[in-house]
Amino acid sequence: MNLTLTAKVRILPNEEQQSLLLKTRKAYMDACNEVSDYISSTHILNVAMLNQALYCSLREKYGLRSQMAQSVLRTVVARYKAILENQHEWIRPEFKHAELDLVWNRDYSLKAEVFSVNTLEGRVKFPFFSQGMESYFDGSWKFGTAKLVTKHGKWFFHIPMTKDIPEVSDAGISNIVGVDLGINFLAVSYDSQGKTKFFHGRHIKQKRAQYKKTRKSLQKKRTPSARRRLKKIGQREHRWMSDVNHQVSKALTAQNPSGSLFVLEDLTGIRQATEKVALKHRYETVSWSFYDLQEKLRYKARRNHSAVILVDPKYTSQRCPKCGHIHKLNRNKKTHIFTCRKCGYQSNDDRIGAMNLYRKGIEYLWSTVAAG
Ligand SMILES: [Zn+2]
Repeated sequence: MNLTLTAKVRILPNEEQQSLLLKTRKAYMDACNEVSDYISSTHILNVAMLNQALYCSLREKYGLRSQMAQSVLRTVVARYKAILENQHEWIRPEFKHAELDLVWNRDYSLKAEVFSVNTLEGRVKFPFFSQGMESYFDGSWKFGTAKLVTKHGKWFFHIPMTKDIPEVSDAGISNIVGVDLGINFLAVSYDSQGKTKFFHGRHIKQKRAQYKKTRKSLQKKRTPSARRRLKKIGQREHRWMSDVNHQVSKALTAQNPSGSLFVLEDLTGIRQATEKVALKHRYETVSWSFYDLQEKLRYKARRNHSAVILVDPKYTSQRCPKCGHIHKLNRNKKTHIFTCRKCGYQSNDDRIGAMNLYRKGIEYLWSTVAAG
C-alpha cells in the first residue's frame, strides 16, 4: 500500500537568493505560457517534438537551463492531457499564478542539512527547517515534484512524499480503541486499558453556529460581493475544521501504540439510522466533518501501523456496556447521561458510545479469527 503525504518544508533563502528564486519562477511561468500557446496552435503533445521546436527559444528567451526547459515542456503537456481527459476539448491552460515545479533529483535535492535547487543561475543551496523531517531521510520515502510556495514573506517547498507500507494484519492488533464522534465532544475514545479520552467540542459548536449565522445573512443579500464573501467564509470554515480534525486524529494516534484498531461508526447510512439523526440532526453540516476526521484518522493510523474499521452504529448509544441490556430510555438525551434501566450503570452517553464501539471491535477480531 502506498502512503503519500505533502511535506511543507520551510527554506531560509537570503535576499539575493530570494530574488533569484522569484526570477526563476517568473521565467518558468512565462516559458510555460509560450509552450502553452504553441501547443494550442499545433496540438502537438509529443515532448521530443516540442523539444525540437522550442528548446532553443526557451533557453535564449527565458534563460532556462536544459533541465528546467524539459521540466516546462512536461508540465505544460501534463496540463493539456489532464484537460483533454476531463473535458475532451483543446482548451489552452493559462499559467497565471507564478509556480515552479521541481522534479526530485533533477531540479532539486534534499539532504538532512541542505536543500539544493536548480535556478537560472545553476544550483543554489538553502538551509531549511529540518525539525520533524528526520524520519523522511531513512531511505524509505520517495520524494515527488516540489512546488515553490511563498506565504506571508516565508518560503516553502511543498513536497509530496511516498512510502510503501505493509497492510496491518488482524494478527498484529494489540490494542482496540472505540471512537465515538459527536457534537458536544468531537470525539470520545475508549481503549483496551479501559481508559477514556474526551475531545471537547463546545467551542467548535459555538464557532460553527457563528459561521452559520454569517452565512445566512450573506445568503439573504444576493449581491456579487456577498457571494464572494460567502465563498471565502466557506473556505475559511473548511480550512479551520480540517485543521481541528487534523489535531484530533493526530492526538488519537499519538496516544495509542502502533498495532491499534480504531473502531468508528459507519455513518454512510446515517439518514436511516433514525436514532442517531435525532441527536445528531445537524447531520447536513457535520457529515463532511465526520467523514474528514475518519479519513484523517485512517491515514495517520496507517503510518502508525494501525488500522481503522467502520461498524454498524446500531444500538451503540442504547446498549449497556456492563450488562448488555438494550433500551431507548437508557439514555437521557437532554442531560447526556446514560443510566442502565436494568443494572443501574451510569456514565456520559458519548462515553457509552465509545465503549460499545470498543466491544464491536473485539467482536470484529473474534469473527475474523473464527473465519480465518
Ligand atoms: Zn446494565
